[in-house]
Amino acid sequence: MFDNLTNRLSRVMKTIRGEARLTEANTQEMLREVRLALLEADVSLPVVREFVARVKEKALGEEVAGSLSPGQALVGVVHEELTALMGGDLGAQASELSLATQPPAIILMAGLQGAGKTTTTGKLAKLINAGDLLQNGRKAGRKKVLVVSADVYRPAAIEQLKTVAAQVGVDFFPSDISQKPRDIALAAIDHAKRHHYDVLLVDTAGRLGIDEAMMAEISMLHEVLKPIETLFVVDAMQGQDAVNVAKAFSEALPLTGVVMTKLDGDARGGAALSVRHITGKPLKFIGVSEKLDGLEAFHPERMAQRVLG
Ligand code: GDP
Repeated sequence: MFDNLTNRLSRVMKTIRGEARLTEANTQEMLREVRLALLEADVSLPVVREFVARVKEKALGEEVAGSLSPGQALVGVVHEELTALMGGDLGAQASELSLATQPPAIILMAGLQGAGKTTTTGKLAKLINAGDLLQNGRKAGRKKVLVVSADVYRPAAIEQLKTVAAQVGVDFFPSDISQKPRDIALAAIDHAKRHHYDVLLVDTAGRLGIDEAMMAEISMLHEVLKPIETLFVVDAMQGQDAVNVAKAFSEALPLTGVVMTKLDGDARGGAALSVRHITGKPLKFIGVSEKLDGLEAFHPERMAQRVLG
């Protein structure tokens, strides 16, 4: 992921770092290269435009022009802006999940069919159960986790979650396609409370596209469950479409964050760079493998560092 972008940007940064003087010409050249690299990585055009405009404004400002090593200062500006673009402006804790509520902390998973919702539910359950979830920068410690599927349209989806739960060693609350999603949600909360679960992860039905019935159902589930986290799971391979679907969902549902899956299959990574800007929601996790340990917390600062080399 981000392979080309990393190659191109790190080359540009190396050149600019070595510049003893920043002229109008070499600054423009650098901005042009950054712009091309971002576009080639499939970052949305409005995102690229605004990013370049912000870097340019700072590049011409006192902070850079008046610096003893302007090249170095300019690289610092690009790093700062890239971090902000990916959600760093929301603060370090924005990329973490919050479990700070009366247990069970409920996490609602939303997304289109095939996005990777069930797999991600399993991955998150594993991470939380193992105690590896970060809270205020520290590992949260082991939690008792329950998962449930409210997907009453595909019996295979419920079975899939059951299998995944067994694989990661967390408890599965059975549901059935004859039930109403609302009743499943209520029964799962009741069970979680009575058996002292810390966290309840709710997998939901996805459709092939955004449709009103799905939106109404997930909104109803949101009302019943009152989740502390509502995560939108989206497939990075869909590129800019992924970002548009995430935007539509974030307008219909109070999302707390986005999980982008299949970044292992998307060398360009543009969707991951655009999603914060377009949806206003932080990217919290990225899926980097089909395997159930293939989930990484997304850290804007570290990712910017990695991309700039
Ligand atoms: P759902 O319909 O949204 O629940 O999607 P699934 O969880 O069933 O995932 C759809 C497909 O994507 C499955 O074959 C998963 O193994 C695969 N998948 C999910 N996340 C990732 C990921 O991060 N990387 C890769 N390579 N495959 C993934």
